[in-house]
Amino acid sequence: MVHQTTLTVIKEDITQVEVDIIVNAANTSLLGGGGVDGAIHKAGGKDLLAECVKIRERQGGCKVGEAVITTAGNLPASYVIHTVGPVWNEGNNHVTDKLRACYINSLLLAREYNATSLAFPNISTGIYRFPKQLAAEIAIETVISHLDSRILEEQTINHVYFVCFDNDNYNIYLSMLSKYDTEI
Ligand code: ADP
Repeated sequence: MVHQTTLTVIKEDITQVEVDIIVNAANTSLLGGGGVDGAIHKAGGKDLLAECVKIRERQGGCKVGEAVITTAGNLPASYVIHTVGPVWNEGNNHVTDKLRACYINSLLLAREYNATSLAFPNISTGIYRFPKQLAAEIAIETVISHLDSRILEEQTINHVYFVCFDNDNYNIYLSMLSKYDTEI
């Protein structure tokens, strides 16, 4: 528990997770791609894609580190936050700051939509090749410090899920989260 928010790690397909908002590791085009992005678009369906197209027409996609929100189409969640993680790029171009920004901007957007539960995939650790250990440290520390820094009355989120798909990430998150007083 961090300030009345429970952090949980699960090994699951994020399209199956029943929360208010799931986060998508999108790309700048917002039009879908491989990995988790492809799975979310496939399960979300054409309405989700249509909203992404509208955002793209309005603001030309989404920049690395930023986040946009759509409804969730056929998914069990109510909304999808699409954030664009950085390509690892051998650690150059402030990639750690950009990954941190993905988590912060997603949390801020989730708060704006009064979400009580939120599920993150392991952003940038697939096709974008970010080292898994480092990405997990950034994810967990950013979420915890963001929740810590928010005034309690402002906070609507009471459950954050870190949704792992591969064994490596699952084991990394399990061992990292066990250091905190969290429910796992
Ligand atoms: P990125 O381009 O940000 O690296 P990927 O989708 O390639 O995005 O990978 C991000 C993470 O999402 C990886 O750890 C991958 O194992 C995981 N992943 C892939 N498919 C799913 C899914 N259906 N549900 C949850 N996580 C997934």
